[in-house]
Amino acid sequence: MNDKVKKDLIILLAVIIGASLCARYFAKGETLEEYAREKASDTSVAFVSQTQSDVPEDIQTNEAKEINKNSLDGENADHEISTKNDTDVTKNADSSSAEASLKKDASTDASVENMDAIEEPEKTGDNNMEQNLSDISRNFYYEPLSEDVILRITGISYVENPNVSLDDLRYLSLLYMDFNGETKKGEMICNKTIAQDLLEIFYELYNNGYQIESIKLIDEFGGDDTKSMLANNTSCFNYRVVEGSTKLSNHAYGLAVDINPFYNPYITYKDGITKITPVGSEAYADRTQDFPYKIDENDLAYKLFTAHGFKWGGNWNSVKDYQHFERSN
Ligand SMILES: [Zn+2]
Repeated sequence: MNDKVKKDLIILLAVIIGASLCARYFAKGETLEEYAREKASDTSVAFVSQTQSDVPEDIQTNEAKEINKNSLDGENADHEISTKNDTDVTKNADSSSAEASLKKDASTDASVENMDAIEEPEKTGDNNMEQNLSDISRNFYYEPLSEDVILRITGISYVENPNVSLDDLRYLSLLYMDFNGETKKGEMICNKTIAQDLLEIFYELYNNGYQIESIKLIDEFGGDDTKSMLANNTSCFNYRVVEGSTKLSNHAYGLAVDINPFYNPYITYKDGITKITPVGSEAYADRTQDFPYKIDENDLAYKLFTAHGFKWGGNWNSVKDYQHFERSN
């Protein structure tokens, strides 16, 4: 081997060693096997991220919406639970904190009737049923007029007169289902001879979900029957004469009840002129039409009142008083 060949071989060896060192340097000291392994995992990572970005945008948005919705549902559910707990707390609390929560309810709701936290009857569970029945029973009662009630009605629905005394009257506390299906507490004053009947009738109406818009003393309307009718208020006692006459109404004795009067108007036919009261209830004077809160012979109020010996003004001929049930003594 001459020197020329030796020199070429040495240069070739140096180039090979140099090239391999360079390759090692650029491969960051990894072996080819390590590099291949890393490359393979890079590829899978790249594939995964490709899959994610391949998901259409609207689906991703929908998923996001679903999550948001679930979290909102969660919030609502929490709210419902806390509301229920609040109700239970109100129900089970001692009288002072119950009173506090009643005041709180009153401050957020203009309706005084909502001050009483009343549970609606539930159809499930004997214990619940018993509990609810006792709650309901506590809210259905009648009693002689208290000093407070006498003060409220004197000079309005009650005036001193030779026909009916305060001792003849009873104060009724009752529950009713309003037009929103909510339980409300009502008050009524009636003759003592029908107090037990009215209690039973209104108890049945409530338990059957019969809807009544309002049951307030007529004194809350200044004793004005027209205002009470316009407000569709159900009431009984009012010392007054029959409209357009000098004859005492059965309401003056506390022996007549008007139910949902706006939907069951009072119609007279004097001198060939038909008069419908209250004003605005004309559409409900046509009893051939079907509409809510209409009293007819299939109506539960009609059935209960007549079963308790009351007469219905809708059966009269000279006038029609569809809201009116009365019992003579
Ligand atoms: Zn009447």
